[in-house]
Amino acid sequence: MADVVTQSLTKRFGKTVAVDRLSIACEDGEFFILLGPSGAGKTTTLNLIAGLIEPTSGRLFIGGRDAATLEPGDRDVAMAFEAYALYPHFSVYDNLAFPLRSPRTAGRYTSEALDERVRTIAGMLEIDLLLDRMPTQLSGGQKQRVALGRALVREPAVFLLDEPIAHLDAKLRNRMHAELRRIQKQLGTTTIYATPDYAEAMAMADRLAVVHEGAAVQVGPPLEVYFNPVNEFVASFMGDPPMNFFDCDVVSRNDRPAIQLAGRLLTLSGPVGQALDRLPGERVRLGVRPADLAIVRSDEPPGAPVLSSEVLVVEPSERMLVVTLSADGVEFRLKTSVGDGARPGDQVQVRFDSTKLYVFDPETGLALGEVAPEAVEVGDGIGTR
Ligand code: ATP
Repeated sequence: MADVVTQSLTKRFGKTVAVDRLSIACEDGEFFILLGPSGAGKTTTLNLIAGLIEPTSGRLFIGGRDAATLEPGDRDVAMAFEAYALYPHFSVYDNLAFPLRSPRTAGRYTSEALDERVRTIAGMLEIDLLLDRMPTQLSGGQKQRVALGRALVREPAVFLLDEPIAHLDAKLRNRMHAELRRIQKQLGTTTIYATPDYAEAMAMADRLAVVHEGAAVQVGPPLEVYFNPVNEFVASFMGDPPMNFFDCDVVSRNDRPAIQLAGRLLTLSGPVGQALDRLPGERVRLGVRPADLAIVRSDEPPGAPVLSSEVLVVEPSERMLVVTLSADGVEFRLKTSVGDGARPGDQVQVRFDSTKLYVFDPETGLALGEVAPEAVEVGDGIGTR
């Protein structure tokens, strides 16, 4: 087992900066996820750690050893990629056994120990009934699990897994999240796992790094990153549908800062209020997650801040509806239960969960903190009930 530390690790391909001064520290035994959109630099980072490519600058340490002094073969890492490459003339069993029969591991496993290791990993990945099949007789998802098994069967210091279950169907993939986390904890091997899927990262990671344009924008436990995003990119990427954003003016109301949103004033207290106190007359961007908005039912008591909106689109999503609405020409989305029965064309009142608002600087995208506003009604503005 080993920790993996990168310090300002950088990789350029010509003019493209694939990895840009990336600094992360994965602890020994940790399940660490690189989460970012396509092209963020996740695969390049894994390739750098594996020693398949050389960094342009920066440093990398594996188990406290400077990787610059280690040949790829001496780094003791095992990789699995999204694009599985199995040996076509070997059975599933022999594909899994192959890494344990290599010259590097020769003599480390007796044939009984090898057999036990192959069958244990095959059982964990639910491919134990396929051991006699040839790769051509497997589905894409089965091939992907064999490829993953070929990495897991080894006992390296570090696993590097690049979207290893992207080809599985949604149901199996969801089941594999729990399984992979269990397997990782059972093996106790430091694991760096790349994915563009925030739900996958939330389900499995001890900690994750949100990677954007080659740099780690925020590192932390999944829930901490989800609830305290440092900027708009992280806030938007960690959620499906993504966070809604509303551009608002900061005004002063009874000597307290407030933001004006579609005819309603929200006064703000706490650290964000203090931050906004210094910004009268400025514009800020208010962030609200779709799950923190709700359509007000006619039998509900008034009081919460509300926004008059028109329903544009209603999409079923599992047992929820994703509803796209428009308020004052600004489109946004909310998640609600199927029973709420919103229809396109309906005029509705949308309630904010006032403890779950975020405020960002529209210039830099940086979070100004979490907001706990009190709603103040003014005149007959939109949202007054
Ligand atoms: P994906 O999720 O799509 O695999 P990623 O986050 O893994 O994306 P990388 O594959 O690391 O991203 O690519 C990062 C950037 O570096 C991209 O702009 C990509 O086009 C570029 N890049 C990667 N490999 C090379 C290469 N060998 N030559 C030139 N550019 C490259």
